[in-house]
Amino acid sequence: MTELAADETVLNLFKDSDALLHGHFKLTSGKHSEWYFEKIRLIENPAALEKIVDLLAAKIRREVPAFDYVVSPAYGAIAIGFLAALKLGKKFAFTQRADERMTIRSGFSGLDGSRAVIVEDILTTGGSIQEVIACLKERQVPVAGIYVLVDRSGGAIPVEGKAVGSLLALKVEAFEPEVCPMCARGLPLTKPGASDKKV
Ligand SMILES: [Zn+2]
Repeated sequence: MTELAADETVLNLFKDSDALLHGHFKLTSGKHSEWYFEKIRLIENPAALEKIVDLLAAKIRREVPAFDYVVSPAYGAIAIGFLAALKLGKKFAFTQRADERMTIRSGFSGLDGSRAVIVEDILTTGGSIQEVIACLKERQVPVAGIYVLVDRSGGAIPVEGKAVGSLLALKVEAFEPEVCPMCARGLPLTKPGASDKKV
């Protein structure tokens, strides 16, 4: 089953950004799916992204009473975290990989002694979020919350014991062509454009 949990407003905003496509898609694996998510479209459409981040910021404002920084991993989540920080009136910092290892740029000196909310674009395994938490731990920065736009894990897996908040939960089943229900209904098949990651 394809699970898609979000209210109509959130769903429409993702559709407006062209990041979330509904139809009948051929994935690089050769399997077919009903939904297709292309996260690069979020960055490509700032006006649509801003509306999505408005909702994320409102959720963070409701749920996290006190923090100083929004921290996001480079590169995909920088625009999202930065916008969220701007809307929340907080500071922003990002982590990046240096020789494979996730680090916080030394220039973000104000982080020490602060509390941080981590903002990431998509949750799949939680690996990069774990690395961001490790970076923050090294700086003795407590994590006050973890938020993603899209949860593809199939139901908010906790990362290091902390719940991950998301706007959209999207667990997509991929079908072999022989058993594909969209093929059975005769829907035209589309092959999405070049992208590193397929749903
Ligand atoms: Zn099909």
